[in-house]
Amino acid sequence: MLGKLISKFFLNRNDRILNNLKDLIIKINCLEKNIIQLSDAELKKKTTEFKLRLKNGDTLDVLLPEAFSVVREASKRVLGMRHFDVQILGGIILHQKCIAEMRTGEGKTLTATLPAYLNALLGRGVHIVTMNDYLAKRDADKNRVLFEFLGLTVGANVSGISLEDKQKAYLADITYGTNHEYGFDYLRDNMVFCNKKKVQRTLYFALVDEVDSILIDEARTPLVISGPIEGSNALYKNINSIIPFLVLQRKKSNKSLGKRGDFYIDYKQRQAHLTEKGLKKIERLLVKYNFLPKEESLYLPKNIFFVHHILLALKAHYVYLKNTDYIVQNKKIVIVDEHTGRIMKSRRWSDGLHQAIEAKEKVCIQNDTQTLASITLQNYFRLYDKLSGMTGTAATEAFEFNSIYHLDTIIIPTNKPMIRNDMPDLVYLSTSSKLRAIISDIQSCVNRQQPVLVGTVSIEKSEEISKLLCKLNIKHNVLNAKFHAQEAYIIAQAGKPKGVTIATNMAGRGTDIVLGGAFKYKENTNHASQKNNLLKGLWNEKNQLAVKLGGLHIIGTERHESRRIDNQLRGRSGRQGDPGSSRFYLSLEDTLMRFFVSDKIISLMKTLGMTDNQAIEHPWLSSAIERAQKKVENKNFDIRRQLLEYDNVINEQRSVIYNERNKLINQSSIHDYILEILKDRVRACIKRYISGGPVNLNSFHALERELKNNFYFIQPIREFLEIGATLYQNVDKLADLIVSTIQSNYSKKTSEDFEEYSNMIEKSVMIQILDIFWKEHLNAVDFLRQSIHLRGYAQQDPQQEYKRESFFMFQSMLVSIKDNVIKNLINIFFVDFKKNKDIYMDIVNQQDNDTLHFLIMKLINIT
Ligand code: ADP
Repeated sequence: MLGKLISKFFLNRNDRILNNLKDLIIKINCLEKNIIQLSDAELKKKTTEFKLRLKNGDTLDVLLPEAFSVVREASKRVLGMRHFDVQILGGIILHQKCIAEMRTGEGKTLTATLPAYLNALLGRGVHIVTMNDYLAKRDADKNRVLFEFLGLTVGANVSGISLEDKQKAYLADITYGTNHEYGFDYLRDNMVFCNKKKVQRTLYFALVDEVDSILIDEARTPLVISGPIEGSNALYKNINSIIPFLVLQRKKSNKSLGKRGDFYIDYKQRQAHLTEKGLKKIERLLVKYNFLPKEESLYLPKNIFFVHHILLALKAHYVYLKNTDYIVQNKKIVIVDEHTGRIMKSRRWSDGLHQAIEAKEKVCIQNDTQTLASITLQNYFRLYDKLSGMTGTAATEAFEFNSIYHLDTIIIPTNKPMIRNDMPDLVYLSTSSKLRAIISDIQSCVNRQQPVLVGTVSIEKSEEISKLLCKLNIKHNVLNAKFHAQEAYIIAQAGKPKGVTIATNMAGRGTDIVLGGAFKYKENTNHASQKNNLLKGLWNEKNQLAVKLGGLHIIGTERHESRRIDNQLRGRSGRQGDPGSSRFYLSLEDTLMRFFVSDKIISLMKTLGMTDNQAIEHPWLSSAIERAQKKVENKNFDIRRQLLEYDNVINEQRSVIYNERNKLINQSSIHDYILEILKDRVRACIKRYISGGPVNLNSFHALERELKNNFYFIQPIREFLEIGATLYQNVDKLADLIVSTIQSNYSKKTSEDFEEYSNMIEKSVMIQILDIFWKEHLNAVDFLRQSIHLRGYAQQDPQQEYKRESFFMFQSMLVSIKDNVIKNLINIFFVDFKKNKDIYMDIVNQQDNDTLHFLIMKLINIT
């Protein structure tokens, strides 16, 4: 009831928003009669005129009607497509920072050209985000003619291109690229030492295609850049050797956990958890085998990584199963993808899990990797001033888009009425009877020549159906989301009469299925040529036949965890007013059905006389399935939200560090800043020994020693004291005197011995030390996050504890950075110079920035 009310409210609101835009659409349509009078050159000139008007104070909203009208006319001339009114509507919604839900085949690629053009007029760059490189390149190529006709530039930011090409792609007015490429470029830009090596400009507007896949499905996997660290392999072996001593605590009943045991496993979340008893036992074992010093506690911050490694090893032994989650091939651990069943040779699990499994299987342990930089996609996209997105399926996730990204979801009506026949689900007792029914449905489509698309949730399932079809000699294509370009071609042909295509969810996404197969004019020929007319005629025949046969029939072989993915599959049929049909086949043995159908109900059904070949079809069942899906969707939303909440802490810290880093890179000299840090550190040092009150001579000596060691301050303080007895009482004045002496010694030394090179050395040392500490901090915070749930034992809120502790860690990291920068600079300028003259000469003569940083890195010594 509440659900209905909410959806009614949502729809009404949607209608209201669309109604409010009616006048704007009429205005754009009215402008058309003037715009079509313009010559090509005059149309192009409009871009310059718009830019000028923006400079003179007009806003994008003021320009919108005319700009959209210009794009529509240009598209008509160069692409042969005139934006439909619903596409104009979609374009406005996208410009207004919302999500436009537009069904498959409604022409989202063309819709995006409208807000992209309008926003590109500001000259700040528009990023169009696609699912894969193939789509980025395809869409950039498709629309390049249009944008270039209007005087704008287009770039394709795909993986593997050179630095120069990447920079060029980002400098373009409109850039097409994948979410991963944009995100990784952002991280990489924050790891370089000079602006010349950066590729991105400030992030202005991201328009995300297939926004649900990118912002929801992929939101749980952060983008991580990692590098190898040596020497940690023994640790995995050591930890692995104590796992057999730990006792698994089994669940006695559904509610109460057994008391005896060192750890338990949450199979749903795929996590291992230690009990208090387990923690004590581990501490004892680590000490016994000399992995931990006798007096040291496991709870010390420096030892907390043991807990992380134990949990990894437990996961490796109890959660990740051989031949299910991974296989051992040529003495290597190879991941099996949980969704698709595909073997993923080049991938490794992160965080040391892969090494823990290698230790368990006693194969060679590959070098551990360390996170160098990371960001979640949520936080990356929140960096843009302006964000919007489009997809065929967003409404079910409208709440999440709103609460996380502050994006409203608006459903855009279809250009032509939708006439697809969505038939109710058929539920069978067993998987085998379900499969028989699916095959018979495919067979009857083939007999009628009706094209059919079969959607599966994994590669394994696709192959199972493929085998059954082979037995019956039914010709078909199987797609596994592996080769994007090739699959896009096959899926484009899936609407041909007699076509049978089996595809996993992701396969061929972003490609439209046209009835009769995709039509293409012969390349480099006149579209009106005889040859093309003939081709068009043949295609028309196929298209009409496919229409007569009822259009594309969709078969779902299982309900997905998320309703959205099911809708995506259905949405592949019935485009642009085409006929079509869809049916999902389920069995009581499906994973999702197991959520709400108990064994008791199954046996009751059997007792009531339901046979294997019978299907049940009832609204009660459909709503129960939907309820189960909603439950899983909510659980997944919670996981994503929690990830985001945890990530927010590190996100704030990341922005502090990246801002600092950018400031350092942008300044030609940071000498004054170094002098400030020097002052801060000297003062802190003095404060440790004298802080007012009676002065102890011993403290003075100690201070003298420390000032000498840390700041190369070789004058005895007594010299200062003799200046006036009052200095004894006035610590601040004394400190000022010491600080200014140290500062002027430092400035003198750097300017005399190193001239302008001191600037480069100061910058390089500061940036590199910042990087080293930030990297360490990222990994330390990661450990903290994994072990923080232990605080639950002490009645503390893990999330609050995580926030508090990571804040302290961050503060202390900032102090350590300052300390280390000063220590290294003093060492380089005052002590090391004579010892390492060769290296210094190399540095001084160095032209290449990267080598310079590398050489300086060799000198840096971290304490
Ligand atoms: P979507 O991404 O919404 O599924 P596409 O952008 O792939 O749809 O477009 C589907 C097809 O419709 C493409 O072949 C495209 O060229 C065509 N198309 C889109 N808009 C128009 C239009 N206004 N007029 C004619 N054809 C169009």
